[in-house]
Amino acid sequence: MSKEYIIAIDQGTTSSRVVVVNKEGDVLFKEGMPIGIEETKDGQILQDAQEIVDSVKVLIDRVFKRHQIDPKEVKAIGITNQRETTIIWNKHTGKVYYKVISWQSKHTIDITNKWIKDGLEDIVLAKTGLKINPYFSASKIKYILETQHLNVDDLMFGTVDTFLLWHLTNKEVFKTDVTNASRTMLFNIHEEKWDDELLKFFGIPKSILPEVVASDDYFGDFEYQGVKIPITAMIGDQQSSLFGHQCFKNGDLKVTYGTGCFLLLNTGDEPITSKNGLLTTPAWKFNGKTTYALEGSVFMGGAIVQWLRDDLKILNNASDSERLALKSNTDDIYVVPAFVGLGTPYWDSDVRATIMGMNRKTNQFDIIKAALNSIAYQIEDVLGVLKKDTNHEINSISCDGGASRNNYLQQFQADISQLRVIQTKETEVTALGAAYMAGLKIGFWKSLTEIERNKKIKQLFYPRISEEKRNKLYQNWQKAVAATISFKPVK
Ligand code: ADP
Repeated sequence: MSKEYIIAIDQGTTSSRVVVVNKEGDVLFKEGMPIGIEETKDGQILQDAQEIVDSVKVLIDRVFKRHQIDPKEVKAIGITNQRETTIIWNKHTGKVYYKVISWQSKHTIDITNKWIKDGLEDIVLAKTGLKINPYFSASKIKYILETQHLNVDDLMFGTVDTFLLWHLTNKEVFKTDVTNASRTMLFNIHEEKWDDELLKFFGIPKSILPEVVASDDYFGDFEYQGVKIPITAMIGDQQSSLFGHQCFKNGDLKVTYGTGCFLLLNTGDEPITSKNGLLTTPAWKFNGKTTYALEGSVFMGGAIVQWLRDDLKILNNASDSERLALKSNTDDIYVVPAFVGLGTPYWDSDVRATIMGMNRKTNQFDIIKAALNSIAYQIEDVLGVLKKDTNHEINSISCDGGASRNNYLQQFQADISQLRVIQTKETEVTALGAAYMAGLKIGFWKSLTEIERNKKIKQLFYPRISEEKRNKLYQNWQKAVAATISFKPVK
């Protein structure tokens, strides 16, 4: 029997991964390596461009060699990547100017504050679906242009997808897809093109930007040992995980429980503008059609568990949190994890974390449980806003990410949201999304229905508490948040 595969590259913030997927949608092999990230004294968060490209090339090579894959057996490659992260390089020499500015870096806040002061917020939201924020690429591009004094005729700008593509196609192809373009704050999501008016406001030359195409375009070939393998998908990581979860229909929702949490709701053909601080974003452009999503995020997700482990030191490792939380027999303690402020729907960056409701018997297990509960409560906060913005009935949550493996947490999520939670067998859902899209483009899979047959579920969680009990718990959470927000110490 001939062996046929799709390869997906998942270039993330803390690691690069390359996976091999077969027709049944199984990730047969995966290789990964960590990626360095540097924080400067003045709070810039930077990465090394060469390290990013090298890691991907080494991992591709490793996948072929370690698993004895013949390059001819690989029918297509899909790329998914950390979004917003900004790279500017010389189009002749490939030299990267400054460094890779990570999406996490907020040091360009003076630039975005000026844009807010100039009154650009409404126009940016209307055109791009985004709130002005240093998180998106625009102010990072501006920062490099302003500080490095470069000749713009020599420059190329790309997010990580574009930069990898350029290198994997022997410096020939300079493209991005709609999902990645939409995170730059320069892309008009309604007209699907770079927005001339915004570029003018920001003072960013259009000539440095890549061509924007569909997520399932033919992006060129990667040549390995004389075999040309087509690259037929590029898609930002959160959107790719939505696709990997097979959230193909209007109303389908996924939550990634990583360091922070990301919720994406498929809203079908229409971009819905949020009144409550959610972002509107293309989910993908696939088969000639653009599908949209609303996106919400929670700053402190799995990171709370890291805090329990590394700072409070009441855990040895993250996965112990499940077993230890089950030793607690109270739901009356509330951790409000506002370590870096609170995002959706509170948007308060000055508020700081609290623990509430303790009595003389409160122990470490109660704190661990309350910390896990706080992840679920924050997701429920965002779900409330999603429902308000869309009038959508949400019927389930598909979950992935490190903390999605915590069965206590997922049961509590089902309870507090009164929704079914779907835990898939495959953990590499983000990579799977890019693999599916690349494979669909070349007919490796014939239809979405064929892919749906591949779905493998590990566990389903159903609500086990009454609505009355849920309402009481959630009301108390809201009270705890309100009390936390009202505490603003004198400075
Ligand atoms: P990222 O992609 O953001 O680096 P991952 O999806 O790898 O994140 O998830 C890592 C996060 O999940 C960490 O913050 C860790 O504390 C948390 N985590 C991992 N396993 C568990 C678990 N079993 N229970 C709760 N949290 C967990």
